[in-house]
Amino acid sequence: MYPLLDLHCDTLYALHKNPLAGNLFSNTLHVDIARMKKGSHVTSCFAIFVDTDESFSPWKAACDLHSLFIASLQANTDHIQQVCTTEELVQNPLVGAMLTCEEGQILEGDLSRLKILKDWGVTMASLTWNHENDLGYPHTKADMPLKTLGIEAVSEMERLGIVVDVSHLSDAGFYSVAEHARKPFVASHSNSRECTPVSRNLSDEMLRILGEAGGVAGLNFCPSFLSSDKQKNHISDMVRHAKHMHNKGGSGILAIGTDFDGIGGDLAIEDIAGMERLWDALVQTGFTNSDLEGMWQKNALRVFSA
Ligand SMILES: [Zn+2]
Repeated sequence: MYPLLDLHCDTLYALHKNPLAGNLFSNTLHVDIARMKKGSHVTSCFAIFVDTDESFSPWKAACDLHSLFIASLQANTDHIQQVCTTEELVQNPLVGAMLTCEEGQILEGDLSRLKILKDWGVTMASLTWNHENDLGYPHTKADMPLKTLGIEAVSEMERLGIVVDVSHLSDAGFYSVAEHARKPFVASHSNSRECTPVSRNLSDEMLRILGEAGGVAGLNFCPSFLSSDKQKNHISDMVRHAKHMHNKGGSGILAIGTDFDGIGGDLAIEDIAGMERLWDALVQTGFTNSDLEGMWQKNALRVFSA
């Protein structure tokens, strides 16, 4: 297998919510360092995720998760290293940790906080999660475009070098980003809506636009985004989505965004150590070496370098 960059997991949030699950080195969740080390030179994007329904101050909640991230890395300096650039990622001899954000309300409407996120080493951030916020609207509000502050956030993120993530965003918000973005953007953990008709997935037109913009879509393992079987995911459906995304967005659109520790159900790939099962299925279906190299890491690195 090629080195893997997983564009999305919610492990930080899960560990913060449930300390009894363990720590970053070893836990009962989907992602820990011990299992990252069993994979092929894995780098995971650890999201600072805030549910604004739970948190009086999203910024404070984000700071708490950042502290947990720092403490977890400091406790494991022999095993894992934060990587903030593609060069650092490629040269890192250990397993890698990229810091990302999910939920633009972390900023609490103050775009100057993007600079703080950049100083933390945040490489990518979603504009929304599942609620309306100061920047825009979630996927359940298809017709609602980005707000003025959301458009300003896109420009400021691009200026600072934080990749714009449209996963969870409304359809009209996606088109706002496509209109205003000057750099490639991503859907870090979203699949094909043609294959599975849920609003969290991307339509064929969105896949085409995303591909033309030089962006990527990370294949999400959430059962209900892969098929009508909400209890269990199937590798055959992951392959089906990857094929369709490849056909509509081009080979350069493929990436991995497992959503580990943000998804439940009976998982065909139980954790970050099990990625070989998907790899083998893709090889058997005719994905070329170059497709797989792109999907595992290279396509996403192209976006982060842009
Ligand atoms: Zn998510």
